Amino acid sequence: MSFAFPPAPPPSVSIAGLTAHFPVRRIFCVGRNYAEHAREMGHDDREPPFFFSKPSDALVEHGATIPYPPATADLHYEAELVVALDKGGRDIAAADALACIYGYACGNDLTRRDVQGAAKKMGRPWDMGKGFDRSAVVGPIHRVADVGHIDRGAIGLSVNGAVKQSGDIADMIWSTPEIIACLSGLVALAPGDLILTGTPAGVGALSVGDTCVVSIAGLPDLATTIGPSA
Ligand code: MN
Repeated sequence: MSFAFPPAPPPSVSIAGLTAHFPVRRIFCVGRNYAEHAREMGHDDREPPFFFSKPSDALVEHGATIPYPPATADLHYEAELVVALDKGGRDIAAADALACIYGYACGNDLTRRDVQGAAKKMGRPWDMGKGFDRSAVVGPIHRVADVGHIDRGAIGLSVNGAVKQSGDIADMIWSTPEIIACLSGLVALAPGDLILTGTPAGVGALSVGDTCVVSIAGLPDLATTIGPSA
């Protein structure tokens, strides 16, 4: 096959301990998956899981400086556990879901909260609030073979050293296997898919010059800095 112009290189994330990179296919995100965060966003804590997506070329890796994005005055951080799949399928049973997981990473679901809020009010899609350029911050993937399955432990986020989010993976309303089961009933999952599994309470705004660090027990910290608009 030939192309009319050179295709973009495939998005990827680094893998701890390997020179090979993890080729990213799609990025799914779970909304409101911690009760306290659901409450801070004005919702009850036992709704069925719901999903949105980010484009895979919105990926940003550890250590990056992210220009403050356009069209917002309220850029928010959201610390999240990222699940990386190397197997997929449809209608995956929760009991079989862990076998689809290649590894885990720290993530930050950057959000233009004002844009998302306006979309919510008007019943419009969230894409421009959630899926903008450089909105998917994902640290190096740690293989299950090295770190096991992460289903509990501290998850937190600090801005310039001040703790803003502090939760526990065990407090996810929908567990990772339940998320994979539910999502695979909606779409066929495949190797290379990433799932951001939701954020604990304490979301807030980032400003130019802020350094934001996501911490998850068992994984190295994921740090990014917000730079001037570009
Ligand atoms: Mn999120």
